[in-house]
Amino acid sequence: MAVESRPAQQSLVQAGAQLLQNALAPLHKEEPPAPQPAMGFFTDTSICIGCKACEVACRQWNQLPAPDPTWSGSSYDNTRQLGATTWRHVQFIEKIERRKPVSEETSAPSLPLFNNLEGASSPIADPPPGTALPFFNTERWLMHSDVCKHCANAPCLEACPTGAIIRTEFDTVYVQQDICNGCGYCVVACPFGVIARDEKGDHTAHKCTLCYDRLKEGIEPACAKACPTDSIIFGEVDQLKKQARERLGILHERGVKEARLYGADDAILEGGLNSFFLLLDEPEVYNLPRNPERPARNVAPASFLTIAAAAILSLLGIFIFKE
Ligand code: SF4
Ligand code: SF4
Ligand code: SF4
Repeated sequence: MAVESRPAQQSLVQAGAQLLQNALAPLHKEEPPAPQPAMGFFTDTSICIGCKACEVACRQWNQLPAPDPTWSGSSYDNTRQLGATTWRHVQFIEKIERRKPVSEETSAPSLPLFNNLEGASSPIADPPPGTALPFFNTERWLMHSDVCKHCANAPCLEACPTGAIIRTEFDTVYVQQDICNGCGYCVVACPFGVIARDEKGDHTAHKCTLCYDRLKEGIEPACAKACPTDSIIFGEVDQLKKQARERLGILHERGVKEARLYGADDAILEGGLNSFFLLLDEPEVYNLPRNPERPARNVAPASFLTIAAAAILSLLGIFIFKE
């Protein structure tokens, strides 16, 4: 019987060790990254001009395909909604009040931002009644750049059965595409209609990553970088909330009493939103739920009811079949 030489035996042992190492590699756990301050967005809709630079920058950076432009019939909005390949969506909301009969029409409408300033006279001619101009009238155009809210208590993450949706070291909510199995539980759990399954692509769930790849390199997210008016401000959530309250105070002083913050306190989803908004009207006008709910809250009562129903049915069954 031929005996293998010592070098041949050694290389066999090495190859075996390598094979074992490769097989065990998926079980190797990397150290989690060190926690960082919570990062997010303060989106001030009062200074959004609807240029859509944020939408385009998001598509470019994340290489998301642009849909064919179609006439949606909804003002200048041809994107319509957030989706698996649309992670930023600029809404154009036309607030055009029904015109009063001519007899009831007063003179030209007031321009709150200018005429209410003490001693200031408006440099802009009063618009005729019925004209829709942004910010200057009761008939106005509201713009809102919508995005994932990176909720502090994220219903999508709570609903995900595979652990594909995680919270990053920046306190943002991130989908790991290689782990997502496309079950769609997160889609129905999100109360904002943000996350969606890519039905034409890989059939997994997608949404804004808060530019996790850029954050890791210390770079601001692409949408905030592109916004020419700083309507989208990126930063530490605590600082942003302070800034948002100051901005709200300024607007109220100037007579814009309808301005309000959405998601800046803990009232929304019992922990607030890391991406929150300053709005100029009721949340519903922007298609934002006033009191969104966490479906995970229903798990305990629903489980209890199921167990109780099963117990009652079992007892009934025993009773009937015993007869
Ligand atoms: S907005 Fe929706 S998708 Fe984004 S973190 Fe909250 S629940 Fe998840
Ligand atoms: S943070 Fe990045 S992924 Fe999210 S909307 Fe902005 S550009 Fe898109
Ligand atoms: S880039 Fe800024 S100003 Fe332009 S649509 Fe987006 S949020 Fe509004």
